[in-house]
Amino acid sequence: FFLVLEGGDGAGKSTQVEALAEWIRAKGHEVVVTREPGATPMGKRLRSILLDVSSAGISHRAEALLYAADRAEHVETVIRPALERGAVVISDRYIDSSVAYQGAGRDLSPTEIARISRWATDGLVPHLTVLLDISPETARERFTEAPDRLESEPAEFHERVRSGFLTLAAADPARYLVADAGRDPEAVTTVVRHRLDQMLP
Ligand code: C5P
Repeated sequence: FFLVLEGGDGAGKSTQVEALAEWIRAKGHEVVVTREPGATPMGKRLRSILLDVSSAGISHRAEALLYAADRAEHVETVIRPALERGAVVISDRYIDSSVAYQGAGRDLSPTEIARISRWATDGLVPHLTVLLDISPETARERFTEAPDRLESEPAEFHERVRSGFLTLAAADPARYLVADAGRDPEAVTTVVRHRLDQMLP
């Protein structure tokens, strides 16, 4: 079973990933927790390039391809092998982050970004994507861990990213759960657990 958590910076993805992993493990499943960018040795190098301040002026197409490269390596060496042995994989970010950040956020076509990602992943689609939806203002109040990341882009960028995520979720309600991430973390976990209870093997 392949579960993805998506959302803007400060939505609380890592908190939810940990809470859900613990709950799914307690049900007796092997759980593999992973994330993008940077889950593999190659991915760690790509992550340091992508998140380095000196990459701020990188061309948008090059940036999109580096995220796709990170994802290709991630799927082939971590996600698919884990799914094949029957584990539940929880990934903090996946294709939708690229569609939202490099597509909706920048000036690239979300459809083309999705197409590149499909090729990079050889068509691996999550069973469920949980979108932790939060307004950029609330996120900014919360995201004290790396505030420079939010400040490095204008507020409109984060608004476009948020709409990009919501558009994806609206197009495929069977495969998405949109959770209001402005609430307390336990309430968010409860909503997600309820949905997973109906889906997990
Ligand atoms: O989720 P995490 O904090 O690891 O993400 C690192 C940064 O990479 C985020 O601040 C996000 O803005 C950016 N990112 C991106 N495009 C992606 C994935 C992440 O711009 N496809």
